[in-house]
Amino acid sequence: MVKRISKTNVIYKFSAKNKPVETASPGDLIIFETIDCLGGQIRNENDSISAIDWSRVNGATGPLYVKGAEPGDTLAVEILDISVDDKAFLVTVPGNGVLSNLKFSSKIKMLKTSKYTTNFSSLRIKSNPMIGTIGVAPAYDEIPCGDLGRHGGNMDVPILNAGSILYLPVTVEGALLALGDLHAVQADGELCVSAAETSGEVLVRINLIKKRQPRFPILENKDIIAILAFGNTIDEAIRAATEYAVETLMISHKLSFEEAYMLGSLIVNLRINQLVDPKKGVRAEISKDFVKFEDFLGIK
Ligand code: CA
Ligand code: ZN
Repeated sequence: MVKRISKTNVIYKFSAKNKPVETASPGDLIIFETIDCLGGQIRNENDSISAIDWSRVNGATGPLYVKGAEPGDTLAVEILDISVDDKAFLVTVPGNGVLSNLKFSSKIKMLKTSKYTTNFSSLRIKSNPMIGTIGVAPAYDEIPCGDLGRHGGNMDVPILNAGSILYLPVTVEGALLALGDLHAVQADGELCVSAAETSGEVLVRINLIKKRQPRFPILENKDIIAILAFGNTIDEAIRAATEYAVETLMISHKLSFEEAYMLGSLIVNLRINQLVDPKKGVRAEISKDFVKFEDFLGIK
């Protein structure tokens, strides 16, 4: 039986204080219905950005309590399917995005979407339905869903799509998984501050790895393992991703620092997730020809 979590169960902070709205055991299938990142407040291009209630943005659906999940474990979230609405929107917000220093106005653009294609005016762009926000509750803080960190959050990773597995370090009992902020398509960087923002449904399978965890969220797909690192600046994020990648190569291939550092130049691809959220996100991708997920466990 597949359990379904309604999009009426919205959280705005990842927090141990949130009451679970559903429970699951390892192996269970769950559908999360999600609202868009602005909570359905944008319906057409004449809506006003200045009328948006910013206390109702970046909501995530959940949280889901995972039976048996304890601090020190890793939650594995297998993304089996993502379906998106038939429309999406983009916004510009003055003072936001990579070009926040330039003068420009607020604008809303509506897009027609499907699983296959997103139409930007007359341009047809290949869709890549993906999850913008997904995370577990942090042990001590309450972290707004618009922020990101070791718990996951608003990571905006374009390759967090169907067929991938996301590994999140558990720090509270039950893990308290929540997700939302679907994008029909987004490029690395999310440069204008929004992507093809939409609502939809995500089908996941939940699993648990006991008593071991990675230092950062890790994404696995059929080709690569990616470290999802973050920092207050892009430089900080790049350094964090690189250090973890090199340390992992030292351990998995029994190399000195210098050898692992050199190997990294050949096989570690540093890519940008997003540059527009409170913290910047970088991923270090390594081919599964050279590493496996287990290599990333147990380095603190
Ligand atoms: Ca986002
Ligand atoms: Zn978004």
